Amino acid sequence: MAEPKRITTTLSSMPPFEEYVDEIRPLWESHWLSNWGSIEKRFIAQLNDYLHCPEISLYDHGHSAIEAVIESLELTGEVITTPFTFASTTHAIVRRGLTPVFADVKADDFTIDPASVERCITPRTSAILAVHVYGNLCDDDSLREIADRHGIKLLYDAAHAFGVEKDGVPAACLGDASMFSFHATKAFHTIEGGAACIHVKGWTPEQNHDFRVMLDQKMNFGTTGKQVYGYVGPNNKMNEFEAAMGICNLRHLDEYIDRRRAAAERYWERLGDVAGINLCRPKANTKHNFVYMPAIFDQDVFGASRDQVQAALLEDNISCAKYFYPLTNDLDCYRGKPGFDPADTPVAMRAAAGALSLPLSSYLTTEDVDRVCDIVLSCAGR
Ligand SMILES: *Cc1c(COP(=O)(O)O)cnc(C)c1O
Repeated sequence: MAEPKRITTTLSSMPPFEEYVDEIRPLWESHWLSNWGSIEKRFIAQLNDYLHCPEISLYDHGHSAIEAVIESLELTGEVITTPFTFASTTHAIVRRGLTPVFADVKADDFTIDPASVERCITPRTSAILAVHVYGNLCDDDSLREIADRHGIKLLYDAAHAFGVEKDGVPAACLGDASMFSFHATKAFHTIEGGAACIHVKGWTPEQNHDFRVMLDQKMNFGTTGKQVYGYVGPNNKMNEFEAAMGICNLRHLDEYIDRRRAAAERYWERLGDVAGINLCRPKANTKHNFVYMPAIFDQDVFGASRDQVQAALLEDNISCAKYFYPLTNDLDCYRGKPGFDPADTPVAMRAAAGALSLPLSSYLTTEDVDRVCDIVLSCAGR
């Protein structure tokens, strides 16, 4: 018997090939392949508009953007963050020489719990680094209030939230800065890439502008002028080919998201009422991007474990991912270090034990979703 059609957790969105070729064709004339060429400049202008943010730095990766913002805001001591995220968020704090302090998450949408953040505040806290998990926006009002009251910065790892809006306001506008990942597997991508959106509360537009210029200089070896190196900086620049992919994908983003929504709605239809599965559906007043199809299994109620469901899918040539397991306060590289203990964040620990991201992409058909759902349902009560 032939192998059943392979279904992957994600599948990168591809713009029409000819469109991409048209975008990159001028590069053969200009020979200008990186360092803020005309394509990158055009891409930034489009992002300024799309994200409602005048100060945006483009990076080679989302992770570079997070590290750069942490470093350049000159944060010190402790940063309160969530363990229910990709390793990148926590690594960025640690690699900048700071101490992550882990707050727990909310049981409904798995974003950081403001009440838990409040309990983590100490005189050494300099910032909160929260994550819009699965594209679900954090409780920004409560986090902002806490940050203001304690005079600390509020940063967002918005890697999952490109295209997400609440009451017409893009996720990029939240916090003192928001960082995006444009990695190939995200809802919007530039192959590899990322961005920092700067809008520090209390700063003038000029101060935000100057800070953004500094980020651009620092990511280019710290060059502040011809033969002048004002900073000790790395090389984290995006290139023209990536920016061209961004321009093409931005043009088609609405279609990609519509197709993802159609697949997500089919999942909700098939699995939404099943006891023991939390599909973590987006809130009513948000425009969502359907970046992932999270399903959190409660083994006691559903009757099968997350791992059993994953194994059953794999048997039928369907892959899915344990986003987010293990928690970042349980990663091998941190094991035994003070402050890294998943038991401190019980809600996140429970979520991590049951979390499975089912396949979702802009290419998934209704038949594909039904095949996944049939297998998931067959696991119930096993
Ligand atoms: C993908 C991701 C990142 C890292 O982005 P890169 O562009 O791959 O560096 C950071 N945080 C979260 C939550 C992510 O999902």
